Amino acid sequence: MHEAAADPILRNSADFTPSPATGPRLGIIGGGQLARMTTIPAQQLGCEVVVLENNPHSPAAAFASRSVVGDWKTMEALLELASQVDVITLENEFVDAGHLAQLESAGHTVWPTSRTMALVQDKFIQKNTLESAGLPIPKIRATASQDELVAAIEELGLPVVLKARRNAYDGKGNATIRSLAEVESAWQRLGGHLGNPLFVEEFCQFSAELAVIITRGQNGEAAIYPVVETVQENHICHLVRAPAQVSSDIAARAADIARRAVEAVGAIGSFGVEMFLTIGGEIVVNELAPRVHNSGHYTIEACACSQFENHVRAVLGLPLGSTRMVAPAAVMVNLLGTAQASGRAGGFDAALAVEDAHVHLYGKATSGPGRKMGHVTALGDTLAAAEQAAIRCAQNIHFGILS
Ligand code: ADP
Repeated sequence: MHEAAADPILRNSADFTPSPATGPRLGIIGGGQLARMTTIPAQQLGCEVVVLENNPHSPAAAFASRSVVGDWKTMEALLELASQVDVITLENEFVDAGHLAQLESAGHTVWPTSRTMALVQDKFIQKNTLESAGLPIPKIRATASQDELVAAIEELGLPVVLKARRNAYDGKGNATIRSLAEVESAWQRLGGHLGNPLFVEEFCQFSAELAVIITRGQNGEAAIYPVVETVQENHICHLVRAPAQVSSDIAARAADIARRAVEAVGAIGSFGVEMFLTIGGEIVVNELAPRVHNSGHYTIEACACSQFENHVRAVLGLPLGSTRMVAPAAVMVNLLGTAQASGRAGGFDAALAVEDAHVHLYGKATSGPGRKMGHVTALGDTLAAAEQAAIRCAQNIHFGILS
């Protein structure tokens, strides 16, 4: 085996020569599309950006000053990143809070903090924390066994949603149970029989899913973006409408819930707060994402300061930017892969001919079913016009083009 490949972290350190740049050095744990879109405004603000990712050609690597190639699940890789930067942030909620606490104990600055991550990364702890702070959440029950699950179903009524407490994304850790006959298969599918910690939640009959991006600065100052409506397909975010077409009362309530939710966990940086607007007109928190969020991608073109730039500002202790929309309406559509194929995109001629639509590709080498490959945001005078443009543009782009 090639010697360098045997120890990618050391190889990386050996190659590392400090840049003469004088700006703050920002480390991002993870190198996916969220890190990529955070890196761009960070560079604009004069930062040196280092991403930690096991893929040297990660989506963020193309924009970062350099990558530390390593596994962010290990302390060794995290310490290597920490040794090269002034401030550390992250792009996913799975980074172990205990590892982050070790970085903090070693004197490194991590935003959001390990304490926040410990409160958020286990969905059951997160929901209990929000409930204790007086926030509305769906009814939840602990389920250490199938017997406890059945008892919870008797109490909550069917349907229910069985959920993994940790490491779930794009609905992969969820199983809807509509009859008692489905208990066994749902339990197995989510690894309950292997000891994977699960909990169960009442099924919320919602008229819409709402989300609010909120950036909280180190002084407690908060920048709150407009309330948006999100539409999921197969549990994956498909489309985002900004602003949501809800009454000003609902918009104000959603913004207030988002503000209280991030305060409850001591958030620093941009967070996504996902909510259900129930058919009874209540708003309940579905979950808190301790990072920039898919429902805020529209802010790049549609707001004075994007969720990504505000995240960078917050973690560097800079004043936050305005969340004001610069167009009456914006719609974002995700570009998802449909099959295992190359990540190369085609269809640009027609896609780029759509006025007011902006195409973002994440630079992933391969596409796969449901894989987030990019997104399109269109601005418009009305939501209908923006949605039409976004969909027209997105429909033209496809992946799997042979080079
Ligand atoms: P993930 O963290 O994997 O994105 P979520 O828990 O946010 O998973 O669920 C993904 C989607 O599943 C939600 O956006 C919603 O459409 C649906 N969902 C989740 N929980 C419930 C619930 N309690 N009632 C109804 N639908 C739900």
